[in-house]
Amino acid sequence: MTSPVWHPFFQHGLEEAIPLVSRAEGALLHLADGGTLIDGISSWWVTTHGHCHPRIAAAIAAQAGQLDQLVFAGYTHEPAEQVARGLIDLAPHSTDCDPLAHVFFSDSGSTAVEVALKMALGYWHNRALDGLADPRHRILVLQHSYHGDTIGAMSVGERGVYNAAWTPLLFDVGTIPFPYHGQEKETLDALETACAQNPAAFIVEPLILGAGGMLIYSPAVLQEMAAICARHDVLFIVDEVMTGWGRTGTLFSCEQAGVVPDIMAVAKGITGGAIPLAATLATSRIFDAHRSTDRSRLFYHSSSYTANAIACAAAVANLAIWREEDVLGRIATLSKGMAERLAQLGEDPAFTNPRQLGVIAAIDLIAADAGYLSDLGPRLRAFFLEQGILLRPLGNTIYLMPPYCLDVDQLDRIFAALSKAGDIFGVPA
Ligand SMILES: *Cc1c(COP(=O)(O)O)cnc(C)c1O
Repeated sequence: MTSPVWHPFFQHGLEEAIPLVSRAEGALLHLADGGTLIDGISSWWVTTHGHCHPRIAAAIAAQAGQLDQLVFAGYTHEPAEQVARGLIDLAPHSTDCDPLAHVFFSDSGSTAVEVALKMALGYWHNRALDGLADPRHRILVLQHSYHGDTIGAMSVGERGVYNAAWTPLLFDVGTIPFPYHGQEKETLDALETACAQNPAAFIVEPLILGAGGMLIYSPAVLQEMAAICARHDVLFIVDEVMTGWGRTGTLFSCEQAGVVPDIMAVAKGITGGAIPLAATLATSRIFDAHRSTDRSRLFYHSSSYTANAIACAAAVANLAIWREEDVLGRIATLSKGMAERLAQLGEDPAFTNPRQLGVIAAIDLIAADAGYLSDLGPRLRAFFLEQGILLRPLGNTIYLMPPYCLDVDQLDRIFAALSKAGDIFGVPA
């Protein structure tokens, strides 16, 4: 029997296996046929503490029986208030910068990015109405970025085969070259030049570009990018959708650079990965540009499920876990275990360019046909599936982004499978 389900980022014509998963616990997925899979990518970068975390599951169950959903335009509920206060407390702080002080809820990373872009343009639009500035529209982006799959989020992301069909709809942006090691100055000079032309905002993935291939750059560069934007009054937007919630070794990766952005998007791990929720945080100047007695200045964005109470309750439980448990300690231990094994794998001539930030590790397989559209990705995916491991390589880049509860035995099994993949698919230089 064929299924009517149309899967995302999946070529149905290749007739790859589609495993049926019935249950999950910790880092383990249980298949309907009795097998298990170690979740090496946190089910697409969302699961942080582990699947079906008891505290989060209990919070969802309790909230579902009390208040499920409420129109959020002018009504509120305690879970949303608690998440907003918690986010403001935990967000990056610095004595030199205005703090992030306002929280706008939505339901996915893409939407949180759309909201960030709309806030930035809304800021300049409303300032212009007051005669305080010229309207600014242009957005600067970093080469190889990924910010989501809606039209605005695609517009500020890397162009390629994955968005070619919609190119005519994507708006024009200014692209700043990626700060590869040794080329940081080119990046910063290009940003300085672009900022002199009064763009509205610059949006970045802080410290590591995820979907672009796990490309890492230094906190010093992030800090300098923020400083250049501040000097030119260009709004600095950080997309912490993937990097947030501990992935890079700190709760948010901006902390490592001492940067407080004007606008910050968070999603994925905000509920521990159990249920969709997203938030866009902004400083008071962004909020105040929309605050007025004039109704035409209000922030025109909403979705039906904005700040869904069940999702907010899950986020409240996640924030409590962060406050009360040694999550960063768990992350540090896992990160160390990954680093030791990655160093060893880096010696294997089938691999090159091992790199790691926090609990994200990546390495490139030296293979004959390595492009994004080559069949290497699906073949590797099928191989790892046979090994009982869920990994989803980006072309020839194999990366791990496991939940923080992954144990040593599971980590060993993943690295054994990587080594075996090198033997089978690698073509040493
Ligand atoms: C995943 C991701 C998004 C999009 O989030 P969705 O919840 O999938 O819409 C945006 N930005 C970054 C950096 C991401 O990794």
